Amino acid sequence: MVGRFAPSPTGAQHLGNARTYLLAYWAARKQGARIVFRMEDVDSPRVKPWAVKQAMDDLRWLGLEWDEGPDLGGPAAPYQQTLRMPRYLSVLEKLIEADRVYPCTCSRKDIESAGSAPHFDHEPAVYPGTCSHWQRGQPIPKAGAFCWRFRSSPNLYQFMDDVLGMQMTRPAETLGDFPVTQKTGEPAYQLAVVVDDHEMGITEVVRGNDLVASTFRQMQIFEFLGAAPPRYAHVPLVVGQDGHRLAKRHGDTRLSTIRERGVSAAQIVNWAARTAGFLSEDESVGHASEVVERFNWKALNPNCVVADAWGTF
Ligand code: GLU
Repeated sequence: MVGRFAPSPTGAQHLGNARTYLLAYWAARKQGARIVFRMEDVDSPRVKPWAVKQAMDDLRWLGLEWDEGPDLGGPAAPYQQTLRMPRYLSVLEKLIEADRVYPCTCSRKDIESAGSAPHFDHEPAVYPGTCSHWQRGQPIPKAGAFCWRFRSSPNLYQFMDDVLGMQMTRPAETLGDFPVTQKTGEPAYQLAVVVDDHEMGITEVVRGNDLVASTFRQMQIFEFLGAAPPRYAHVPLVVGQDGHRLAKRHGDTRLSTIRERGVSAAQIVNWAARTAGFLSEDESVGHASEVVERFNWKALNPNCVVADAWGTF
């Protein structure tokens, strides 16, 4: 069994990210799974070079450890997505060959004005299919003017989530077609994540529940590759007092800042383990690894956890 940490260095890692990584770590280690650290730095306009190293430093400071990663190497190296581009592009070639993707020149505005309302939380409007008449062999628009968009399936897809139970949807109807590249030609998250989870042999994915809809996108790409998707556990998000996902307006919840304020890694571990329901209010541990034995998906608190920069520590 193989789990993973997959931070996006688009900014500093915050309390919400920390809680998800801790859950991923406990879940993996409880089953004796290996852990892969993968740097998800393909989203170039938003990636901050300083955040790449800081993500690793933050996770180590929390007491997390992994078995393969950019710093350790391993059988599926490299573990940084910007160094894996040829792999994504070769799968893209296969998708084009199979007529499973088409070039789409629509802008976000076009899609928002024509698309129907999203069916899932945290999701953009469903793509209206404007460019989907394209067939392989027809002219391709000018580079930079289009993204490759995946044709979603009308079939019913389902998976048993370790936290949320049975999930099912018809992707064509509820999610629509979705981009597998940016307009710059770079691979998009949905493509890179599947190629990597597949090639790195990931069997257990633990991530925020804002990604449930993406799981249905990714299952279709796994199916295209003829590969079985991993098991998924979509965990409740950390939200601010207003019930919305942690963001700048909730104050500075960056791990680096919290650490500078003198908060210890153990305090964060105890907060994560108590809010998850794995430790009672009067129990505490000194290190993340001490929670492994207490971990149990069935005991996980299913609710979002409220935190902010001022009151939590
Ligand atoms: N890199 C993504 C993030 O930090 C996680 C993606 C995933 O777990 O599939 O939000």
